[in-house]
Amino acid sequence: MDSQRVPVQFARSPVMAIPLRVLILGGTTEASSLARLLAGDPRFAATLSLAGRTLTPMPQPIATRIGGFGGAEGLAQFLRAQSVAAVVDATHPYADQISANAVAACARTGVPLASIVRAAWHPLPGDIWQNVPTAEAAAIALGQLPRRVFLSLGRLELHAFAPAPQHHYIARTIDPPQQVTLPPDIFFLQARGPFDRAAEAKLLRDEKIDVVVSKNSGGGATYPKIEAARELGLPVVMIARPDKPAGHILRSPEEAVAWFGHERAPGSLRGV
Ligand code: NAP
Repeated sequence: MDSQRVPVQFARSPVMAIPLRVLILGGTTEASSLARLLAGDPRFAATLSLAGRTLTPMPQPIATRIGGFGGAEGLAQFLRAQSVAAVVDATHPYADQISANAVAACARTGVPLASIVRAAWHPLPGDIWQNVPTAEAAAIALGQLPRRVFLSLGRLELHAFAPAPQHHYIARTIDPPQQVTLPPDIFFLQARGPFDRAAEAKLLRDEKIDVVVSKNSGGGATYPKIEAARELGLPVVMIARPDKPAGHILRSPEEAVAWFGHERAPGSLRGV
C-alpha cells in the first residue's frame, strides 16, 4: 500500500474539547512509547490493547485491555462499540495475524488505520547471517553436529527446535516456557530487553555459544546480540519476517502523534 496516498479522514465534531478515541494495538516498545506520549493529553482518549502473551506486562499509563478480539469481525465490533476514531497498529513485525485483522476491520468500519513499521536490520561488514524462512527451517539450518545455540525468539516458537535434540540450547524468554514440546538439552534465561552489547558479548562468551538464532525484529532493544555476534565472529541464523499487512505507514510513535494531528484543525476530531 502506498503510504503517501492513504487519506486520513477523521470525522469532524462540532465540539473541540472532545478527545479522539484511539486504539493502539501493542505489545512492543513503540506501542508503550506511544501510550506515554498520549497519556495525560486531553486531546486523546487512548486504549492500549495487548494480546495477553506476557504473563506480567509492564504497567502502562493509559487504559489497557488484554486478550484477542475474536478475529477481524470481533475487532470491527469493538471499534464500533467503542466509537474508536483511529487505530494505530504498533504490533511486532512478526505479529502478522493481528495486522491482517486490523486492515480488514478498519476497512469494514471506515476507521483510519496507521501502522508503525519498524525497519528491519541489515547485515553489516563482519555479520555472518544465514537467512531462513521459519523457526523450523532455523532448526534444520543448525546442522547435524551438536552445537551450543543461543535462541532469542520468544517462548512460543521453541517447539520448532524439538526435532533437533543434538544441540545444547540457551533460550532467553520474558516468561518461563509453558507446556510445549522442547528439545531435551535446553536452559532458560528469563529477561526482558533492552539489552546491552557488552553484557550480550559476555553472555555469548561465557556460554561458549557457537551460533545465534534470531528474528529480524529491528529496533535497538534487542540489536546488541547481533552486534555481539559480529564482534565474536559468530554466525546468526536469521528468521525472515512475514508479510505483514499495514495501513498508513509510520516509522515512529512521534509520527503517529503527528498523524493524529494531520487534520487537527479546530473541531476536526471525532469525539467519544
Ligand atoms: P499474531 O499471530 O499476529 O496474532 C494472533 C492473535 O492474537 C490475533 O489474531 C489476535 O487474536 C491476538 N492479538 C495479537 N496481538 C494483539 C493485540 N495487540 N491486542 C489484542 N489481541 C491481539 O500475534 P503474535 O505474533 O502471537 O503476537 C502477539 C502479541 O505479542 C502482539 O501484540 C505482538 O505485538 C507481541 N509480540 C510479538 C512478537 C513476535 O515475535 N510475534 C514479539 C514481541 C511482541 P484475535 O484474532 O482473537 O483478535
